[in-house]
Amino acid sequence: MLRRWYSTLSLRAKAIGITVAITTIALSVVAATCVVQLRRQISDEQRRAADSMAMGFARASELAMAVRDTQELSRLANSFLRDPNVLFIAAYSGAETRPLATAGRDRQAWESFQNGRLDNVNCVVGEHRLEPAPEGNEFSDDAQFDPLSSPAAGSSRNAVSRPTGRVVVGLSNAAALKAQRHQSFLTVMYTLFAAMAGGLVLSFALGTWMRRLQHLSRASTLISQGDFTSGVIDRRDDEIGQLARSFDSMRQALLERDREVRNFTATLQDQVKERTGALESALATAEEANRAKSLFLANMSHELRTPLNGVIGMVDLLLAADPNAHQRRYCEVAKSSARSLLELINDILDFSKIEAGKLELDATDFDLYEVIEGVVQMLGERAEQKKIELACGVANDVPQRVNGDPTRLRQVILNLLSNALKFTEKGEVVVHARLQSETETHALVRISVADTGMGIPQNRVNRLFQSFSQVDASTTRKFGGTGLGLAISQRIAQMMGGEIGVESQEGKGSTFWFTAKLTKHARVAAAIREGRLDMRGLRALAVDDNHTNREILHAQLASWAVDADVADSAAMATDMLQAAAEAGRPYRVAILDMHMPDVDGIELAQRIKSNPITRATILISLSSICDHMQPGAMHQLGFSAWLTKPALPSQLYNAIVDSLAAQSPDVGVQAPAYFGKFIQLPGVKALLAEDNEVNRLVASELLMLAGCECAIAVNGREALDAALKGQYDVILMDCQMPEMDGFEATRAIRDAEKRDPAGTHRNIIALTANAIKGDREACLAAGMDAYVTKPIDPGILFQTIRQLTKASAAAAPPLPAHAAPAATPLPQPPPVDLAALRRRCMGNETIAAKALATFDVIVAADVRSLAESVYKGDSVSAAASAHKIKGAAANVSAEGLRRIAAEVEQLIQADALSKTQDCIDELQRELERFHRHLWTALGELAPNTAAAPALSVGPRSGHPGAK
Ligand code: ADP
Repeated sequence: MLRRWYSTLSLRAKAIGITVAITTIALSVVAATCVVQLRRQISDEQRRAADSMAMGFARASELAMAVRDTQELSRLANSFLRDPNVLFIAAYSGAETRPLATAGRDRQAWESFQNGRLDNVNCVVGEHRLEPAPEGNEFSDDAQFDPLSSPAAGSSRNAVSRPTGRVVVGLSNAAALKAQRHQSFLTVMYTLFAAMAGGLVLSFALGTWMRRLQHLSRASTLISQGDFTSGVIDRRDDEIGQLARSFDSMRQALLERDREVRNFTATLQDQVKERTGALESALATAEEANRAKSLFLANMSHELRTPLNGVIGMVDLLLAADPNAHQRRYCEVAKSSARSLLELINDILDFSKIEAGKLELDATDFDLYEVIEGVVQMLGERAEQKKIELACGVANDVPQRVNGDPTRLRQVILNLLSNALKFTEKGEVVVHARLQSETETHALVRISVADTGMGIPQNRVNRLFQSFSQVDASTTRKFGGTGLGLAISQRIAQMMGGEIGVESQEGKGSTFWFTAKLTKHARVAAAIREGRLDMRGLRALAVDDNHTNREILHAQLASWAVDADVADSAAMATDMLQAAAEAGRPYRVAILDMHMPDVDGIELAQRIKSNPITRATILISLSSICDHMQPGAMHQLGFSAWLTKPALPSQLYNAIVDSLAAQSPDVGVQAPAYFGKFIQLPGVKALLAEDNEVNRLVASELLMLAGCECAIAVNGREALDAALKGQYDVILMDCQMPEMDGFEATRAIRDAEKRDPAGTHRNIIALTANAIKGDREACLAAGMDAYVTKPIDPGILFQTIRQLTKASAAAAPPLPAHAAPAATPLPQPPPVDLAALRRRCMGNETIAAKALATFDVIVAADVRSLAESVYKGDSVSAAASAHKIKGAAANVSAEGLRRIAAEVEQLIQADALSKTQDCIDELQRELERFHRHLWTALGELAPNTAAAPALSVGPRSGHPGAK
C-alpha cells in the first residue's frame, strides 16, 4: 500500500520528502543533545549555588553553632529565606541527626529531604560540612571570618573552639526547569523552521532541475514520435545542462539521418512505383498472353480434335464395314494411333490448364473401388500382352463411397499404372490402396503402383516430377511419352490435398504412390452395404505360382475375415485340400490360377473334382484373357465362377458370395442368327448441324447406319430454320459453327418453343470437340439436353439419342415368353435375353457386346443413385433413375432388371417410396446376376472381336470393404 503510494509520487516530491525527513531527524538529534546538556548544566549550576549558599550560611553561623545559639541560627537561617529560591535550610551540629536550627518555606520539600526522597520534588540540595579545627586553632579575631557575630557571641569567642557539623540548603529548581522547557521549545521550533526552510530551498532547487529534465523528457518523446525539430536549449554548465547539450546534438544527428532516410525512401518509392507500373503492365501483357494462350490451346484442341474425330470416325466406319483381317489390323493400328494422339492432346491441354492455374476439381459422389479397379481392368489387356502379372488389392478400411473428382483420380492412377506397365518388361505390377489416415468426414487414401521394371537411378528421382522430364533420351526414344504425366499427376495429387512420391531401385523396380484426401460418404455406403453376406471364418485356399499374387489374394481374403491359406503349386494344393478334409476342416472354396507350371489349373480342378473327399470344394478360376475358356467348358470342369486377371477385389468377393449362394451361372444362349451393322434407331428423324465436312460425313454415316433419317445444316442459322420448320426427334448441334454458333441456335430454338403455345420440346444434343471444364455447363445452360464429346463414340451417341427419344422402347421386339415378369424363380431365365438383343442389334454382335458393356457400366451407377435417392427420400430423382434403368434394361433385353425397375417406378408413382426397399434389394441382386453373366454373354456374343476384352466391367457398389 505504502509502496504503491510511494511509487505514485513524483521524483521531486520524493526528493523533498527525503531531504526534509533527514534534516528533521538530524536537527532533532542535535536539539535533543543540546537540551540534555543544558539540563545537566543547569542542575550542576544549581547544585553549586546550593553548595555555596550552604557554605555561606555555615560561615555565618559558625560561631552560633559553636555556642549552639539556636536563636541566632534561626535568625540567620530565616535571613537566607529572603532568596525566593531557598526552600529550606538546616544546620546540624556534629554528627547529630536532629537539626540545630531550621528555616523553610516548603514543608513538602523539607520532609522529602528528611525522608531521603527528593526525586519527587523540584529541589536541589547543597551541603557544607564544618570540619574540626586543627589542634589549638580556635576562633581568632579575624573580623572577616565573623560576619554573623553577635555581642553575646563576641563575648565568648576567644573561649570557644571551632564547631563541627553540617549545613544543608534546599534550593528550588522550578525556575531552572521552566527556563529549560522554554529553551527546549525554542530548539524544536528552530528545528522545524530550519527543516521547512531547507525543504523550501530544496523544492525550489529541485523544481528548477525537474523542469529542465522534463524539457528533455518531452523532447525525447517527440523524437520517439518522429519529430526531430524541437530542440532543447540549456546553457547552464551543470550536469543537466551537459546532458541537454548531448541530447541536442544527438537530436540533430537523428534529424540529419531522418532527412537522409526520407530522401532515400522517396527515391525508393519512386523506383517501386516505376517498377510496379512496369510489373503491372508486364502482368497485364502476361495475362493477355495467357488468355491468348488459353484461347489458342482451346482452339488448337478444337482444331486437332476435329480432324481426329474424322480419322477415328472414319476408322470406326471402316471397321463396321466388315474389313478383312489385314484391313481390320490396319484400321485398328490407325485407331489406336489416333487415340494416342488424342491422349497426347489431352495431356498438353491439362498441362496448359495447370500452368494457367485453371485446372479445377469436380466434387461428385463416386465409388472409389470402382475407379481403382476400373483402371486396373482397363490396362489388364496390356499387362496380358506383355506377360506381366497385374494385381490389385484394396484394404478393407478404404472407404468405398466418397466425394471428389473421379476423373482426375482415375487419370493419376492410369498414368502411374501405364508408366509401370510401360517400363516393366517382366515380373509384376501391383496396385494397392490403403487408408493412410482419416477424420470423421475425410479419408486420406494412399494408392501405390509397384513394379519390377527397370527402376530409376537415384540421381534422377528428384527431377521426375518436373515437366517434360524423362529419365533419359534413349528411354524416350524407346518408349515415347511427353514427360508430362507425372507433373500433371503431382499437381492433381496436391490439389486433392495429398502428395506424390516414388521409391525406386535401378534395375529392380519402382513404387510410385500418391495420396488423396476424399470426403467420406458414410450414410449411403452403409445403407447399400446392409444385407451383405458375412464370410467370417470361411475356409479358402488360394493356389498361384506367383508369390505376389498369392500375397495379394491372401491379404484380400483376410480383410474379409476369411480363414485363408495359400499354395504355390498344384501338388501342394492337392495335399493341403486332402489334409484339411481329412482333419475335418475342409476348404470350402479354392481359387485356382489357371496358368501354372507343371500342373495347370485345369488339371488341378480335375484332380480336386475327381477326388471324393475334395469334390465338394467350390472352385473359382483366375485366368488371363488368353486362357479364357467357354463357360460351358468351365462348368464341366467344375468351376463355379471364373475371373479374368487382374482379379479385382469386388469381383473376387462377388464370385465367392455367388458361388456360396450356389447360384450357378446361367449359360446357354442361342447361336447368332444373322449379322447386321449398328444399334438401330429406326424411324428416328435427326437433324445434324455441323460445319466441318469430315465430321458431317462421319456423323451422318453413323446415323444412317443406325437407321436414322438424317437432315443436314451447315451452320447455326440453317439449323435454327430447319429445326423450326421440320419435325425432328433429335437435333445434333455442333457448338462452334460460323454465322451462328450452336449455343445461340439452341437459345433461339428454346425461345421459339416458349412463344409457340403448342410448342413441343425438341431434343438437342451438343456435339463438341472442346473438353474444357465448363463446356457441359455452358451447353446445358444454353438449353441443350445432353452433351457428347468428339471424337464421337457411336455407342454413347446412340445411347444418348435413345435415352432422349425413347425410340428403342417403341422399337423393341416383344419380349420372349420365359422372361415375362410372371416367370417362376426356378429355373431362373438368364438375366439377358441374348437372342432378343441380337435381334435388336440386327445381328451385329459387336454392337450388342458394346451395348451390353456400356449398359453394365451405366446401370451400376443408376442403381446406386436410385438407392441413394430412396435413402434420401427424394422421390423425383428416384423415379427418374428407375425410369432410366427400366429404359436402358429394355434396350439390352435385360428383362429382370427392366421388370424390377418398372415395379419401383410404379411404386414411386403411387407415392409408396418407402415400400421400394425390397424391390431395390431385388434390383441389386438381379444386377449382380447380370454382372456375373456379363462375361459369359460377351464371350458368347463376340469372342473374336478386340472390343470385348477391352470393355470394362465395373465392380459393384456393394463391395464388402465399404465403410
Ligand atoms: P511420360 O511417361 O509421358 O514420358 P511421365 O511424366 O509419366 O511422362 O514420366 C516421366 C519419366 O519418368 C518417364 O519418361 C520415365 O523415364 C520415368 N518413369 C515414370 N514411371 C516409371 C516407372 N514405373 N519405372 C521407370 N521409370 C519411370
